[in-house]
Amino acid sequence: MDPQHAKAPDAAPPAPRRQRVALVAHDHKKRDLLEWCQRNRASLEVHDLVATGTTGALLASELGIAIERLRSGPLGGDLQIGAMIAEGRIDVLLFFWDPLEPQPHDPDVRALLRIAVVWNVPVACNLATADLLFASPLLLSGPERHVPPYPEAGSLSSLP
Ligand code: PGA
Repeated sequence: MDPQHAKAPDAAPPAPRRQRVALVAHDHKKRDLLEWCQRNRASLEVHDLVATGTTGALLASELGIAIERLRSGPLGGDLQIGAMIAEGRIDVLLFFWDPLEPQPHDPDVRALLRIAVVWNVPVACNLATADLLFASPLLLSGPERHVPPYPEAGSLSSLP
């Protein structure tokens, strides 16, 4: 074997990457998200968590874990998370939106889902996808997520 490419026997495995996880649930989906978070508490608490207002208050009080709380969704919380995605400050989005109930802030819901796709942020909108996402080894140790190199975007590091 080419000695230059030989792996050092005692090379430490790469450190797990701490992710910035955003959590949002519409009212009829909050129970689902809470129960999922209770089952996955240990996986969640190694990450930095941010949530819309009411979702964040519920999760913080029921789980006792640190969560940055933004505005309530209808008052701009979804848009705040969308802005964080555009700034490269969110790695994963759990967004349990309600497919059976119109929301007063439907345009914000669409905007959040859209901007997550624009920036290639993994999004789980239901329990099955959240399970798959957090079961993936890519979440902790995989390659860096590919961020599309939009020429108009400039450098994220040049943002104020
Ligand atoms: P909430 O917002 O966490 O403040 O309820 C969620 C949403 O409706 O988007």
